[in-house]
Amino acid sequence: MSIIEQCVEHCTVCPHRCGARRGIYEGDGFCKMGIRPKVARVGPHYWEEPCISGTKGSGAVFFSGCTLKCVFCQNYEISANHVGVFITPDQLAGCYKNLESQGVHNINLVSAAHYIEAVLQSFDIYKPKIPVLYNSSGYESLDSLRRLEDKIDIYLPDFKYSDNRMAERYSNAFNYSQVALAAIEEMVLQTGDIKYDKNGIIQKGTIIRVLVLPNHTKDAMSVLDCIRANFGDSVLVSILGQYVPSGEAYKYPEINRKITEKEYDKVVNHAIKLNIKGFTQELSAADEQFIPDFNMPSNDYFNYNSTH
Ligand code: SF4
Repeated sequence: MSIIEQCVEHCTVCPHRCGARRGIYEGDGFCKMGIRPKVARVGPHYWEEPCISGTKGSGAVFFSGCTLKCVFCQNYEISANHVGVFITPDQLAGCYKNLESQGVHNINLVSAAHYIEAVLQSFDIYKPKIPVLYNSSGYESLDSLRRLEDKIDIYLPDFKYSDNRMAERYSNAFNYSQVALAAIEEMVLQTGDIKYDKNGIIQKGTIIRVLVLPNHTKDAMSVLDCIRANFGDSVLVSILGQYVPSGEAYKYPEINRKITEKEYDKVVNHAIKLNIKGFTQELSAADEQFIPDFNMPSNDYFNYNSTH
């Protein structure tokens, strides 16, 4: 199938709804991205939650650009500096096929919100036979998510902030907590409860990530309260202690350090008190070695044999 890429005159696919023009390679909107996907890394990824990465890895496609501008982003090179190569929807479908042939447990679309159109087109060309996971900042529009219904098996959203002032200061996002809550409600509605295969690898469901920021344990605990009140036992929660000040975090003294064990334990103990199920991390994960290199994908990834 050949896909005709079309510039967009008035983009509203993410909650910024900037109404900006997006050409093939560049755009005038908040995200600055065009409509052709730019990807920074494609390959098996072993550092997701154990039920995602398993033993064979999660087949990650890291998209370049982002609809948030988190000052502390660990993937700053791709989210803000837009490192990557342009690929067509056919080549994106080829990435799925190649990752599948490597035996990964799932296809993991990382920060695809601004490329929703191309992602949908890629599924028309090739729908992976393994579960598809949508790895999100939580700042998603309901319209876009509804278009993904029946195409995504697992959602992996962040729930970054309960306090919208923090979202404005650190991520340049307005109304974040309401937008993320509504988005996650839609995700849970689509996936239903968590389901695993016989090896404990997730096949369906929503896992919410809560990143603990230094000096902001209170906000992380409010996020947990909100998750418990709205989703009960239907989701898993992953409490991330891996924060390393990256990007422009040095301009914000209150978040310009790693979190302490005391801060992390406080948030984890709150989750235990709420009877929340999910994952915690060893704080040794807070190391730059866990930030994957964004090497350009090799051409091998892009070959798609349309007879399959
Ligand atoms: S995807 Fe980009 S251009 Fe479109 S509404 Fe969001 S920020 Fe604006």
